[in-house]
Amino acid sequence: MHTTNKQHTLTRRSFVTSLATGALVIGFDPLTRLWITPAEAATGIDFDTLPPLDGTLHLDDATRDEYAQDYGQIIHERPRAVLKPGSVRDISLVVKFARRHGIRIAARGQGHLPYGQAQVEDGIVVDMRTLQTVHAIGDDRMEVDAGCQWRTVVETALARQLTPPILPTFLGLTVGGTLSIGGISEATYEHGAQVDNVFQLEVVTGNGEIVTCSEQQHRDLFEAALAGQGQCAIITRAVIRLVPAFASVREYALPYADLPALMRDGNMLAEDERFNGVSAFVFPQPDGTWRFFLVAISYWTLPDSPDDSALLSGLGFLAGAQQITDYAYGEYVDPIPELPFTQGRPDLALLVPGSAAADFVAAVLPRLAANDLGTSDFVELFFWKRSRFTRPLFRIPDEPTCVGFVTLRTPTSDPAIVERMLSGNRALFEQNRSLGGTHYPFSAIPTSRHDWKRHYGGQWGRLVRAKHRYDPGNIFASGPDIFGRND
Ligand SMILES: Cc1cc2nc3c(=O)[nH]c(=O)nc-3n(C[C@H](O)[C@H](O)[C@H](O)COP(=O)(O)OP(=O)(O)OC[C@H]3O[C@@H](n4cnc5c(N)ncnc54)[C@H](O)[C@@H]3O)c2cc1C
Repeated sequence: MHTTNKQHTLTRRSFVTSLATGALVIGFDPLTRLWITPAEAATGIDFDTLPPLDGTLHLDDATRDEYAQDYGQIIHERPRAVLKPGSVRDISLVVKFARRHGIRIAARGQGHLPYGQAQVEDGIVVDMRTLQTVHAIGDDRMEVDAGCQWRTVVETALARQLTPPILPTFLGLTVGGTLSIGGISEATYEHGAQVDNVFQLEVVTGNGEIVTCSEQQHRDLFEAALAGQGQCAIITRAVIRLVPAFASVREYALPYADLPALMRDGNMLAEDERFNGVSAFVFPQPDGTWRFFLVAISYWTLPDSPDDSALLSGLGFLAGAQQITDYAYGEYVDPIPELPFTQGRPDLALLVPGSAAADFVAAVLPRLAANDLGTSDFVELFFWKRSRFTRPLFRIPDEPTCVGFVTLRTPTSDPAIVERMLSGNRALFEQNRSLGGTHYPFSAIPTSRHDWKRHYGGQWGRLVRAKHRYDPGNIFASGPDIFGRND
């Protein structure tokens, strides 16, 4: 018997929806063709030497303050200027200007990373969201501006019964933002990350050149931009893969009595791929115990429908306690309307080697406590095969399988609690690294260049070569600013 989604709370949608809890333009006036720059003197840089832009450059305090915020509310770096580009040419001009003046620059989508990754102190932030055109759509691909939200991509694709195979939980994120770190979902176990589903990019390099790249053309640049954390180029357009969309999603929320049974079944499902997506949720209870759920999905379109008993056979969930819910596809993939930037959120995402994952998670859960590593609202686990990942800078452990361990920290306004969570994150990061694990850059972890060298391992040389070639002035300061000037 299937339920409608309105009647129950035991669903992935309800898990992830629980996340959602809270200027003056100074620029080139296209009419007068004059710069409006009252704050310019304060910045010490003569922006008058910039050629006219199609968009606007903002130097006022209110805008600069606004771009010193992000989802995590931990880091606040105030830029000297904010570019809202009216064209890719604008980005190219401002990159050339920044290089000439030695100003650092960071692209920004929605600012939904937790640790200042889209901020740059005293530099220039490029707000990619002013460029969000869908340029073309075909049977298996769509060409979009990097500033497009995934919601726009999905709406446009669904109008043709198509969809990207991998979508983030929050469709407000930008295409360029997720392609810069990887882009994962419960369907990653079948399709890899979003970066594995890109045909071509257009980027602006640190020289200000506008370059089209792909596996066939400037491959080193293509592979440095995908999951490259904005270190070598700004992505301005992407040609992304589309697949046929099913009409509906059936979601199976399966409660488990304990972690070993949950981990065993998660790994088994990653192996046999009977579902279209799988992840697990672990929730803390007031008495210090945890509740465990496996959430699996199956896509379908009438007249076909999923065979529940075949899909659930052999799984060790608490029989009789499962919930099976049907959604329209478009409704299922868009569970979070908007997230306000209000409190500190030092979230953490680790990729744990498959052989060590069950013990690692079992040891960590009891330590996610206020007086130890800090609390979490919930932990989400993903079960992946290494063979699904193809991009060199998306770092996963060197084992056939791995488990994604994502802890969504309890939001807080108390700096001391944030500090404790950051130390906790660092401890978990090191513990996982000593097991051969890596991390997903959706993470608030204090890191050094040495940490990043270890993270990239055998790909470090590739990244450094691309950095020298495509950003020789070292102006891109996106992400963790791996090549920061003070390091
Ligand atoms: C509620 C929520 C749900 C999430 N769900 C998922 C999920 O399901 N899957 C997943 O993988 N991640 C998820 N994330 C993490 C998300 O992938 C990252 O937060 C994503 O990078 C943010 O996208 P953004 O558009 O906000 O980019 P920003 O945070 O603005 O930027 C991300 C990084 O990329 C750089 N950057 C941005 N645009 C460009 C560009 N065009 N060219 C080069 N560099 C650029 C920035 O400088 C920054 O370092 C989630 C985050 C939140 C807050």
